[in-house]
Amino acid sequence: MAKKHVYFFGGGKADGTAKLRNLLGGKGANLAEMAGHKNLRLPVPAGFTITTDVCVSFYENKKKYPVELKGQVNAAMKKVESVMGKKFGNVKDPLLVSVRSGARSSMPGMMETILNVGLTEKTIPGLAAKFGSERFAYDAYRRLITMYADVVMEKSAGIEPEEGKGIRVQLDKLLEKAKENAGVENDSDLEVDDLKELCALYKVRIKDVLKNAFPDDPEKQLWGGITAVFSSWNGKRAIAYRNIENIPHEWGTAVNVQGMVFGNTGANSSTGVAFTRNPGNGENKFYGEYLVNAQGEDVVAGIRTPAPINSYSQSDNNKHLLTLQKENSKVYKELESIRARLEKHYNDMQDIEFTVEEGKLYMLQCRSGKRNGPAAVRMAADMVKEKLITKVEAIGRVTPAQLDELLHPIIDPLEEKKANCLGKGLPAGPGGASGQIVFTSDEAVKWFNKGKQVILVREETNPEDVEGMRASEAILTARGGMTSHAALVARGWGKCCIVGCPDIDINFLTKTVTIGKTTLKEGDWITLNGTKGTFYTNRLPMIEASTENKYLNEFLKICDSARTLNVRTNAETPEDAHKARAFGAEGIGLFRTEHMFYGKNCEEPLFKLRKMIVSKDEAERREALKELYPHVKSDIKGTLKAMDGFPVTFRMIDPPLHEFVPQKKEALKDLANSLGISLEDLQKRTSSLHESNPMMGHRGVRLGITFPEITEMQVRAILEATVELTKLKKKVFPEIMIPVLCSVNELKAQKEIVKKVYEEVCKKYKVKKIAYMLGTMIEIPRAALTADKIAEEAEFFSFGTNDLTQMGFGFSRDDIGGFLPHYIEHDVLPEDPFQSIDIDGIGQLIEIGVKRGRSTRAKLKIGICGEHGGDPASIDFCQKVGMDYVSCSPYRVPIARLAAAQAALANKPTKKIAKR
Ligand code: PEP
Ligand code: MG
Repeated sequence: MAKKHVYFFGGGKADGTAKLRNLLGGKGANLAEMAGHKNLRLPVPAGFTITTDVCVSFYENKKKYPVELKGQVNAAMKKVESVMGKKFGNVKDPLLVSVRSGARSSMPGMMETILNVGLTEKTIPGLAAKFGSERFAYDAYRRLITMYADVVMEKSAGIEPEEGKGIRVQLDKLLEKAKENAGVENDSDLEVDDLKELCALYKVRIKDVLKNAFPDDPEKQLWGGITAVFSSWNGKRAIAYRNIENIPHEWGTAVNVQGMVFGNTGANSSTGVAFTRNPGNGENKFYGEYLVNAQGEDVVAGIRTPAPINSYSQSDNNKHLLTLQKENSKVYKELESIRARLEKHYNDMQDIEFTVEEGKLYMLQCRSGKRNGPAAVRMAADMVKEKLITKVEAIGRVTPAQLDELLHPIIDPLEEKKANCLGKGLPAGPGGASGQIVFTSDEAVKWFNKGKQVILVREETNPEDVEGMRASEAILTARGGMTSHAALVARGWGKCCIVGCPDIDINFLTKTVTIGKTTLKEGDWITLNGTKGTFYTNRLPMIEASTENKYLNEFLKICDSARTLNVRTNAETPEDAHKARAFGAEGIGLFRTEHMFYGKNCEEPLFKLRKMIVSKDEAERREALKELYPHVKSDIKGTLKAMDGFPVTFRMIDPPLHEFVPQKKEALKDLANSLGISLEDLQKRTSSLHESNPMMGHRGVRLGITFPEITEMQVRAILEATVELTKLKKKVFPEIMIPVLCSVNELKAQKEIVKKVYEEVCKKYKVKKIAYMLGTMIEIPRAALTADKIAEEAEFFSFGTNDLTQMGFGFSRDDIGGFLPHYIEHDVLPEDPFQSIDIDGIGQLIEIGVKRGRSTRAKLKIGICGEHGGDPASIDFCQKVGMDYVSCSPYRVPIARLAAAQAALANKPTKKIAKR
């Protein structure tokens, strides 16, 4: 038997179903489902779909069709004629058809459509008689000629006219001229004679320009249309779109040929689009608009303001217009009942297109409707309660990016489209923010204190900028990468931040910044989109983050029921710990001790930390540590308490020293006074601390090895805080983590210190045991490779993928802004490895680390605390390699909960790793 190339639908029957999406395309599959499924059998104008396989074979066979195709199309057309009660090409009551594309995955506006196919000089009188309007028939003819000439005779024929000389432009000019001659403004005011003349002029022009006559023959029009749609699959626009959206080129499109119905035959006809639920907020209410006496394209074109279908869909723009519910309650009721059936059938919000021809309702399309973040979350949560979908389905209904929309204010997308984009950098802290620009941290604080909204623009930031960063709405830097200081700090605070914009040139003297051709001065407004990394001149309107968290919480609970990875947070103050708990964090995976001095009122401890850093010998350092001790202990205690029974991983201090040595003269003077030495002497000490590569210098465990008293002080603070809280019947689980380890010997040495302090604390508090764990970060390739040895000493591993990426690639985290954008633009690297784990390379180190670590300690607890811990693709990888938890900044915790649930479902784990 010949292969089936054509699938009929209509009159309560269909050859295909929604399941045949790959073969029939999204549109064709849904038309078949709506027309033929026993639960639906909706009033769909009859038609047929030519399969995507035909498209594939068309390209494989030098644009020739399978021999059986013609016969199958003819047979299907006969069935369409019989359901529609009209004949294609018949002069008395002609059937007209539309010819449309329809790929597996929606490619809006990228391929072609031709309407009114079958209209010719001969069939015009029949159509005119049927609707009692010759004008209507000629208007339809004019539209057909334009579309056909443009799509079939020019584009599909491979003609590439010069800019502004295309046939459509030329025909549109004739239309303008006709309106001018007739003295009218709108197309709809042209009389029948004007249109007749126009159609004649069109044909002459087409012949002149394209050297071919418009085919006044239904059969030729039909096949011309079909071929043009198949050809449009490989049109420039379509290819470019597929490249961006990663749609395979070998899929091909289907072609849908469907009986035309008209919404523009008079006051009793209309056309509209609707959503079975509100796509803007997810409310379970029917939402849509329609236009009387119009065709589908008129609704989209925005020539007239569409009217609301019901009072729920009314807005300030359209509330003066009559609703469909009032205008034609019978049709509205029918549409409402279709809405209910479609939702029940598809178990999802549907976007539908309908036409009313002379009072009769037709369904032209339905598909799963696009929605924003708040709507996606609410619909998913609601549909589980309504038992429309399972929890597993709900988890797949929301993307991490949609969830992000709920957590930060965003720039109004419509305004953003129109705005003047100044530049682009790395999207370090999501959400949108506007503010007046300032160039120093001090100015940011000053302006903020005057009640101004500011954006701090810097070359890069360091710990001396934290006050100004805190006072700013957002931060924009010329240098740095996704794990640079500015990025880490901003993300931790949930602040909008863009880093690594090499085009930014700041002039501190004139207080101006030049970005490309634009120069802005201090106080000028700019707006940042920290999710995309783009920024704009002026103040753009924002859409506030949703404050209504009911649906978000419901939805995240659903996610929690599916995930196996624990989700922890990176936080170092009790306030952040509380915030993270509210977002659902199940512990702290990284408490960066040195960052605890970034919070409010931290001038004093930060000063003492610096004093410790510049101490000249052990005695002086011990003195400084003694002063620092109460601050560290109280913060640790507060954080343990806030985590309320969840574990907290305290990382031993890891300051790349260059970040913490003060630079400002005032600060240096104060420090010198406090140490009782001259400024000159202090400067000598700080310059002796200078390192060429501080990120690979005297940091992390190396500090703890050379200055054991630093480790001692921190371990004492952790253990004493633990005992004191335990005595108050609080549940606390401290984990001591050693950073920047490259050899197991480093860990052994630190372990000795921990043991010693442990005994001292037990003695001091007269306790026999203090529960804690000792583990290490795996952030140096050598540590990953020797993980088996390290695991003999460590009870847990936490992958520090920021440094692991830095050391694995040999890319400085703080200096990638200079070359990484170029790498990505030119496809040298597929994406920023500091944003998403480089699975091919760094991923191998992680896999090796996990495997070798567990080879010597089967129950080794393993997590990740680099910035990748909040990135969905990286979370999926963590699931695959069998980690126990991910840890990310507080504002990314909800996204990590969703991503972990999606990862668990996608990678059915071989064993359940995590216990909650
Ligand atoms: C890391 O390197 O991944 C990490 C978490 O540590 P930091 O970013 O503080 O160096
Ligand atoms: Mg690190």
